[in-house]
Amino acid sequence: MKKLICLDFDGVIHSYSSGWQGASTISDPPVEGAIDFIVELLANGYDVAIYSSRSGSWRGRRAMKKWLRHWAGVCYGKTLGSGWSLAGCVIKIDSTHSERKKYASRWLIRKIKWPKHKPAAYLTIDDRAWTFEGVWPSLESVGKFKPWMQKKEINKSTKWIWEFNGDIATFIESLKKYGFGSSQPIQKTKTCRGFNLLKFIDLYDQECSLQESSLADEDAIWLGVDNPDPKILASRAKEFGVETDKTTGWVSFLIPEEVNISTRMHLTREQVIKLLPHLVKFVETGEL
Ligand SMILES: [Mg+2]
Repeated sequence: MKKLICLDFDGVIHSYSSGWQGASTISDPPVEGAIDFIVELLANGYDVAIYSSRSGSWRGRRAMKKWLRHWAGVCYGKTLGSGWSLAGCVIKIDSTHSERKKYASRWLIRKIKWPKHKPAAYLTIDDRAWTFEGVWPSLESVGKFKPWMQKKEINKSTKWIWEFNGDIATFIESLKKYGFGSSQPIQKTKTCRGFNLLKFIDLYDQECSLQESSLADEDAIWLGVDNPDPKILASRAKEFGVETDKTTGWVSFLIPEEVNISTRMHLTREQVIKLLPHLVKFVETGEL
């Protein structure tokens, strides 16, 4: 028996950029490569089913078939049917180009299965699914789930990184058109020893900085919180020699001048370049 590959429709075959407009309304073109992939599956001995929330109604199934027939013809015309004969689509040699397109698209619709109910599949390809590997997803990742098309939208709209041509001031200005406002500007200044220093405030109102390092044998930067503010539970303050009237919550734990605590990372260019792709991904998708 042939293995059945079950394909979702919206967001997998149909590019679905206009969103849901009813079970029998399909407005967008196919996802790039969708029809070629179906033909390739058939050519390699798989059965293909298209099963979607549209499949429950006769109108929905008819709309999907009509839509696919049109786009299969377009795809056949573009690729001149390469690969289709391997899948079993054999067309009379003396047919005209438009006859071939018509025959091939009808052949494909008949070759694909259009079940009304979810079929038992060897593999399902869906844009709103999570591959279960024995570990349950966190509720947070369930809540934050985005299908690939929506992630792509974000990526598409933020070509911001490519605006950088070495001039930081112009770059920061150009970010505004991508919606990255200047909520807290970064202040540029110099240290007393003349090293470039950028100052900013983080989410917890902590003063932070990014500074050129004075390291002599390698370029490096310092990045982090400037003044550490260690705290101790009020209930244990006395035990550690901290005077306070508070009995609950946190109180500042003053560090003697003689003690040095570093809260800044000291990074080389090599280390920064390894961090950069993660930072860019975070800006573009909100995830690491
Ligand atoms: Mg879908």
